[in-house]
Amino acid sequence: MPATEVVVVGGGPTGMALAGDLARAGRQVTVLERWPDVNPSSRAFAVQARTLEVLDSRGLADPLLDKGIITDAVRLFGGATLDLSRLPSRYRGVLITPQTNVDRALEGYARAQGATVLRGAEVTDLVQDADGVSVIARPKNGGEPTVWRARYVVGADGAHSRVRELAGIGFPGESVLSSVVLADVRLDRGPTEGGLTMASTGEVFGFLAPYGDTGWFRSMTWDRRHQLPDDAPVDPAEVGDVLGRALGRDVGVAEISWKSRFHCEERQAERYRAGRVLLAGDAAHVHSPMGGQGLNTGVQDAVNLAWKLALALTGAPESIVDTYHAERYPVGRDVLARSGAMMRAITQATGPRRSLQNLLAPRLLGIRRVSDAMAAGFAGVTLRYPRRRNEHPLVGTRATEIPLRGQRLTVLQREPGFVLVRESGARRLDTDLIQAERADRGPAVLVRPDGYIAWAGSSAATGRDGWRTTLTAWTGDGQRAVTGR
Ligand SMILES: Cc1cc2nc3c(=O)[nH]c(=O)nc-3n(C[C@H](O)[C@H](O)[C@H](O)COP(=O)(O)OP(=O)(O)OC[C@H]3O[C@@H](n4cnc5c(N)ncnc54)[C@H](O)[C@@H]3O)c2cc1C
Repeated sequence: MPATEVVVVGGGPTGMALAGDLARAGRQVTVLERWPDVNPSSRAFAVQARTLEVLDSRGLADPLLDKGIITDAVRLFGGATLDLSRLPSRYRGVLITPQTNVDRALEGYARAQGATVLRGAEVTDLVQDADGVSVIARPKNGGEPTVWRARYVVGADGAHSRVRELAGIGFPGESVLSSVVLADVRLDRGPTEGGLTMASTGEVFGFLAPYGDTGWFRSMTWDRRHQLPDDAPVDPAEVGDVLGRALGRDVGVAEISWKSRFHCEERQAERYRAGRVLLAGDAAHVHSPMGGQGLNTGVQDAVNLAWKLALALTGAPESIVDTYHAERYPVGRDVLARSGAMMRAITQATGPRRSLQNLLAPRLLGIRRVSDAMAAGFAGVTLRYPRRRNEHPLVGTRATEIPLRGQRLTVLQREPGFVLVRESGARRLDTDLIQAERADRGPAVLVRPDGYIAWAGSSAATGRDGWRTTLTAWTGDGQRAVTGR
């Protein structure tokens, strides 16, 4: 029976990010993916600022930026514009690139770090006991099944997760919008202002994101009076017609490459952990594509879970794995609420509510503070994890923007493990942790492997207030837990 420390079921962006991080931390990990190749369909197209920071911590952001364009404006209904150019991030905008580019980059990362990736292996069953999990995988093209043995199994197997079902985890929610059409289109008379364009009349909506200056766009369209099942073919004339009615002019659809009709559900797994089985990405939450959150939330689930599993496998307290649900479930719930609110605003039928919305949206987004908060929320850069009452207010916030002498944090974090950032001028400390020095006046901080602050204070502090106490609380003891290897 082949054995490994972690079996990841599903080789989409979530599974590959997780496998790459686990392998980078020195853990044995095997990805079982049913399809022989990367999914060729475009699907998600927006990589948000926080995900770009995460990818930068793995050396993947720059090559990906070469495969798309950063856009910093989202033109919404009623003439309102969301300005992303002031995001508190190195990445001031959203990267528009087909999902296949992200999927390929993350698969390359997982393999380069030493993860085993088995394609053509479909997981059909699993059984867990006190020591581990047995996973049955069948070759997709027929043949004898293989039973894998692992200490943990992560279901990163998408919205229809078999792992979720086998673990007995409920997925409550409902279908919220049907007959949404996604397509990659070449337009003769597309928007020329750059940025993302969203327009809706209450009867139809149309959305366009430019793939550079090529004349190609990702379009998303919906027509209240043209509702068809997911498997009904997409007629190119339908895309042109709905875009024209939503934008108020003919955009000249010259060519359509990829197209898909789908319906949106809003669902979230009741819990992200059942014993030795965990869920991440679409297996844990699905919602409308409004706001481009799906892929981004999945990748961030993965980087939250990976270091915790890696530490649990090296002897850290098991309770570290429970913090995954505690931290990521509320994030998933917020994403459902935010993308749902946006979808409902866009599809709001004509009437007094819509008129009020069209009146208020530009005014509200004209207030810089409101616009910046909304932009930062979608970009994922204001996310903070809960802290205990006696902890420093910075605990749980992201550390990425702290100015350092020398390399930026995301470059230092290309090595796994915690990072200790000393106050400006403070001497190096006696520890094997990766260390850095602040270039500004703030406190010392201990940064978790996923980039969030675990502790803040004086680097000289010892005892209960010191960084070593926090580090030990997260990692247990042992040198391997400190370095991640
Ligand atoms: C039509 C469509 C359009 C979308 N548009 C957008 C968008 O515009 N913006 C956005 O942010 N998101 C969008 N999404 C969602 C986005 O694609 C997902 O959020 C993202 O892919 C989630 O990644 P994941 O790795 O969690 O799951 P997935 O990408 O679904 O990957 C799951 C993987 O698990 C594999 N798998 C499943 N079952 C098994 C099994 N039993 N054994 C082995 N392998 C298995 C699958 O083959 C797949 O490769 C869209 C999704 C779809 C379907």
